[in-house]
Amino acid sequence: MDPTQISHLALDIGGTLIKLVYFSANGDYSEESRNGCSVVKGRLCFAKFETRKIDDCLEFIRFNILHHSGVQQPNGEGHDKLYVKTVPREAFTYLDGQKKFVEIDHNDLYPYLLVNIGSGVSMIKVDGDGKYERISGTSLGGGTFLGLGKLLTKCKSFDELLELSHHGNNRVIDMLVGDIYGGTDYSKIGLSSTAIASSFGKAISDGKELEDYQPEDVARSLLRMISNNIGQIAYLNALRFGLKRIFFGGFFIRGLEYTMDTISVAVHFWSRGEAKAMFLRHEGFLGALGAFTSYND
Ligand code: ADP
Repeated sequence: MDPTQISHLALDIGGTLIKLVYFSANGDYSEESRNGCSVVKGRLCFAKFETRKIDDCLEFIRFNILHHSGVQQPNGEGHDKLYVKTVPREAFTYLDGQKKFVEIDHNDLYPYLLVNIGSGVSMIKVDGDGKYERISGTSLGGGTFLGLGKLLTKCKSFDELLELSHHGNNRVIDMLVGDIYGGTDYSKIGLSSTAIASSFGKAISDGKELEDYQPEDVARSLLRMISNNIGQIAYLNALRFGLKRIFFGGFFIRGLEYTMDTISVAVHFWSRGEAKAMFLRHEGFLGALGAFTSYND
């Protein structure tokens, strides 16, 4: 048997990124019999490409994959595929700087809300295996963060923008409750002095030009604004349908602590601790994994 045999691949072609998942029996290939069935051991491999560079992706597939194997036909979408129930240690919560893996009881998985943060954001209510409905979304998503970020900070890439945001302080530009009420909480309506009253609001009256702000502070405010907004809309939709569990996926998250923390705090704050934000290890590959697993149905 060819040690680099690849039997399946699936593609998810998005507005910003193409996600590729393929199964490779490379290296530790072996076959064993389980319940009378032959089981091929191997690894799932993941790759991503910028959609505008689709030729690089096709080249990769041609040379690294098709070259070696008898691949079955590539597939398209598949967000509804609930691979979270089959992959161990996939879902986790992120609160107070702590990542906590969640064991999901497969009999108690549905219903839930899946919030996919890609270029734009889709919110999908999932009621069962293959039973789902897109209930909401917002155009203020990862594409907005990257697009506005590039314009405002002159960054060239997502990674550069993220790196910048690590070093920034959003309070330089965001108008906080304390900025309005003289440093005190607005306790009458339950807002702490550090809550953001208006994203980018300080820029109204600072008398500064864009160049007067540090790009890292701009990046930080932008990341905070987008993440907060998504967390809030997600919670409102969860509330609308009585859903307690919200899974967040999409390449925007990228396992970034600040993003996950902002989303978790937004969900926690708005739901008064009732709803839980959960994240996924393979967050960016949900569509491709869904398409991949649909081979086996
Ligand atoms: P889509 O399917 O719409 O392309 P994705 O789930 O792939 O959506 O997420 C795309 C978003 O992920 C981008 O808008 C950007 O915010 C973020 N992102 C993360 N990593 C990258 C990267 N390396 N290049 C471009 N965008 C990235």
